[in-house]
Amino acid sequence: MKAYLRTFGCRANQYDTEAARAMIEAAGGTIVATPEEADVALFNSCAVTAAAEADLRQEVRGAARERARLRGEGRTVVMGCASARDDGTIAALPGVSDVIAGADMESLAIALGIDPAFAQARAGTQTGSRALLRIQDGCDEHCTFCATTLARGANRSRPADEIVREASGLAVEHPEIVITGIHIGTYGADCGSSLGELLERMVNEIPHVRFRLTSVEASEVDARLGELLVSDPRRVAPHLHAPLQSGSDRVLRRMGRHWYTSASYRAAAARIASRPDVFALGADVITGFPGETASDHAETVALVRDLPFTYLHVFPYSARPGTAALRMDGDVPAAVSRERAAELREIGDSKAAAHSARREGGLADVVVVGDGDKREGLTEDYLSVTLADASAPRRSRFNAKLSCQPSTSRLTAVR
Ligand code: SF4
Repeated sequence: MKAYLRTFGCRANQYDTEAARAMIEAAGGTIVATPEEADVALFNSCAVTAAAEADLRQEVRGAARERARLRGEGRTVVMGCASARDDGTIAALPGVSDVIAGADMESLAIALGIDPAFAQARAGTQTGSRALLRIQDGCDEHCTFCATTLARGANRSRPADEIVREASGLAVEHPEIVITGIHIGTYGADCGSSLGELLERMVNEIPHVRFRLTSVEASEVDARLGELLVSDPRRVAPHLHAPLQSGSDRVLRRMGRHWYTSASYRAAAARIASRPDVFALGADVITGFPGETASDHAETVALVRDLPFTYLHVFPYSARPGTAALRMDGDVPAAVSRERAAELREIGDSKAAAHSARREGGLADVVVVGDGDKREGLTEDYLSVTLADASAPRRSRFNAKLSCQPSTSRLTAVR
């Protein structure tokens, strides 16, 4: 079977596509570069924004059109978050034979005509420079803007032995393993463990490789995890991405983000990020949430200015079907939402530039990433840097001195 793979959305989705690839290849299938060459085109969908769902529909239609133009055969299977919430729209798209909720690998195997026994197959080596490792699925929270929690269900932690086994295999070829999921900070809440406990075990049992965490709520960084994030940057990247979403407590309440306030976030972020000299602190922020006033936005701007962020991800609010926020009053005009996002991005960019400037002349632990001929370095504190030696092999890792080329503000890693 020839399969084409296309992923929309987050690292958890990218991991699931790697798992689908491993399953297809274990069953003797091959991965092809275009949907029209494929017997089956597999799209892994995202429901975070309306744009992500629109892009999916456009590409599925495009695949069917190309197939019809070139061969008249083949079909499409759609998995992921938008699938899990499909109201029949995806199922009705041309060429779609199966719609699989989330990352249900057994159902996906059946839809692909593969023996479900292959559903547990996992690749020793993934396609990326850094490996992805999903440790849990789902979320027990219900943020009022979030479609993901509706799509992925309750928090379900993978067995630690299984995760450690997979990580050991990935560490052979990959210098960095990115720990991902839907809500990784609640890992273990359903089995008497914790993210800190799991990470500590992996650091102790799997030598050399660097682990990096994706989003963890600031309130979920307990003492053990906090120590791991700052004690050995060669083993655990000194990097915390803690969603903030808003600096206004009134808006946080409307978002249903009841587990922290702007004050507790400020305290946690400052406590975690202040200890080591080299640390990356990032956050997601949503602008234009229903009911957000200019003074709410001003509170967000003030908090963001105060905290030692080294980058920001800012998104204008995107109304999602079935979410509680959709029924809320106080719509913010899209233009205002974009304006507020632009203001926060500007602050984020200046903080990123300041971080980069602080790092000039410093030392870094660089992992070489990139696809095709493109090569760049990624430091422990999440800086993308140019490589003085452009021939450095992908997935290699070296200690470097960071210098700044006069022509650019971008740092260069010199071995
Ligand atoms: S914590 Fe909130 S935003 Fe994150 S997955 Fe859960 S419900 Fe969605």
